[in-house]
Amino acid sequence: MKINENILISSLTTMRLGGPARYVVEVESYDDVAEAFGFARQFGLPTFALGYGANTIGHDEGFNGVVVINRMLGIDEKPTTDGVRLKIMGGEYWDDVVAYACKKGLTGIEALSKIPGLAASAPVQNIGAYGQEIADTLVEIDVFDTSDSSYKTLSKSDLKFSYRKSILNTTDINRYFVISITLDLKSGEMPRPFYNSIEQYMKEHSISDCSPQSIRQIVSAIRDSKLPDPMEQASSGSFFKNIYLDNNEALIAESKGYPVYRGKDGNKINSGWLIDQAGLKGRLLHGMRVSEKAPLVLINESAKGYNDLKAARAEIVAKVYDKFGYWLEQEPVELQ
Ligand SMILES: Cc1cc2nc3c(=O)[nH]c(=O)nc-3n(C[C@H](O)[C@H](O)[C@H](O)COP(=O)(O)OP(=O)(O)OC[C@H]3O[C@@H](n4cnc5c(N)ncnc54)[C@H](O)[C@@H]3O)c2cc1C
Repeated sequence: MKINENILISSLTTMRLGGPARYVVEVESYDDVAEAFGFARQFGLPTFALGYGANTIGHDEGFNGVVVINRMLGIDEKPTTDGVRLKIMGGEYWDDVVAYACKKGLTGIEALSKIPGLAASAPVQNIGAYGQEIADTLVEIDVFDTSDSSYKTLSKSDLKFSYRKSILNTTDINRYFVISITLDLKSGEMPRPFYNSIEQYMKEHSISDCSPQSIRQIVSAIRDSKLPDPMEQASSGSFFKNIYLDNNEALIAESKGYPVYRGKDGNKINSGWLIDQAGLKGRLLHGMRVSEKAPLVLINESAKGYNDLKAARAEIVAKVYDKFGYWLEQEPVELQ
């Protein structure tokens, strides 16, 4: 177990905001996890489980507690009747897991290519993109339960997945530390219909190969063309969630001419469209740039601190509400 002191949260998160965390503990084994949380309890300090920091925002005052990062590596593979069961240690970088699966011709997570983060964080907000989400393939996760200091296995149904939600970021926030995740992947190809942008890309580039490797390349190319690389531009990816509507609300929205996407996960309006229509695309607000290519993304170009982000967020939320009557909800978590 590695214990580091006074580490800037800005250096641990892709939005690059946030003052010092008093302790940052990197755990490399099951025993380390119990030890890390025992250490925090001994000193009466709060804890926060952090991964790659791609969906976490730091505050200027920092965190007077213990940040625990999963550094456990390894992928265990067992054949199933129609594919492979993978047990992935939480410290694995998510996109390396996707690359590994695609190389073996396994389908189920290829559309989740290039999502920055660690495997342990993937179930927390039920990562999703281009028609797939981790809930589609997740079987169970191994956790450390901080409420009674025990190791447990939680099944998919225990996690109560929905759009960008699980018990890990709602009812049981900060309770479980994710150690590993287990996925069932199948041999074969992603079933059609594909997401519109994938179909469009295939058409434009005359691609007919739907293998996991091919879909991975397509998704990666689409993402590279519009999303900022967190190594080059500070952001947390989509800063706001999309707006989900029931059937009645969807009909009202359509009668007003708003584009409603009816997918297998429900009716939604892309919040990036709302931000664009509110005249905010490309604008620099308090040092935060509303991305020109993907208006749902806020890029930290020159924010002096968390208050600048707060001011930019307030301005965007108010403008969208005034124009459309929808409240935008923030996607990234705040480290506090
Ligand atoms: C450019 C960009 C593009 C993105 N695109 C997408 C996208 O297409 N789809 C999507 O869903 N997301 C996307 N994201 C958001 C982000 O990549 C995902 O949420 C990812 O899962 C975050 O992983 P992380 O390790 O960085 O998590 P962190 O930000 O470190 O943590 C996120 C949450 O997980 C919790 N957590 C972390 N580790 C553990 C653990 N061991 N045990 C328990 N809880 C833990 C944290 O407490 C926090 O609540 C994008 C982000 C960026 C910057």
